[in-house]
Amino acid sequence: CTRCFRRIREEGERRKNAVVTCESCRGAVYCGVRCREDDDAHAGECALVQRAVTDPRLRSATRGLRMFLRLLYLRAAHPHRFEALGALQSHLAHLPPAQQARLRGMAGAVNSMLPPPAQMPVEALADMMSKVHTNLHGVVDAAGRALGSGLYPAAAMFNHSCAPNAVVSFARGGRLRVRAIVLIAEGDEVCIAYTELYAAAAARRAALESKKAFLCTCTRCTDPVAVRHDLPLEGWACE
Ligand SMILES: [Zn+2]
Ligand SMILES: [Zn+2]
Ligand SMILES: [Zn+2]
Repeated sequence: CTRCFRRIREEGERRKNAVVTCESCRGAVYCGVRCREDDDAHAGECALVQRAVTDPRLRSATRGLRMFLRLLYLRAAHPHRFEALGALQSHLAHLPPAQQARLRGMAGAVNSMLPPPAQMPVEALADMMSKVHTNLHGVVDAAGRALGSGLYPAAAMFNHSCAPNAVVSFARGGRLRVRAIVLIAEGDEVCIAYTELYAAAAARRAALESKKAFLCTCTRCTDPVAVRHDLPLEGWACE
């Protein structure tokens, strides 16, 4: 479902019969009339989806754009909900020039598709897109299957550790929950994982550096004994 992330296909006939689409573009699918009515972000992407429905080549190319169109449309309609975005980190200035140019090009394309009240100066938009890319959470179901992506400014404040003391999971409707997995003493920092933990230190650090633009210095990445314990995750270590 475009609004609540519900997996429609696996919820049986009753659910399938309730499925509706946007009447203008026919490309946004909802689990029911209620989600269609409540989706106040779809107006920002409807024109693009309409084009993608008739042009299959546009379909995969527009997935990332759709997310930004939805976000920016929401931002114009409910600016107070986006105030927290100001506190998030942008890495635009530190990206390689080719990546910066790609983000600015994408910002120009997004702007040209938005209604004028939702448009932003290209530089500010590229900066916001960098913030979104860096802080995005992949939304998964209970079985770990990808459902989409979400921006959760409060959850973006949690720092990363490769030996985290809390985990992220998602409830119905894409609501993000953070749960402790060990006893956490008062005053201790609560950390979550931004990357695959069943990977060796070098692979984890490379993934974090490319996707999140920082070099992990957690104990699991820097303590020689911990790094050695992780070696079997890469292959077999000869003793
Ligand atoms: Zn729904
Ligand atoms: Zn539509
Ligand atoms: Zn680490």
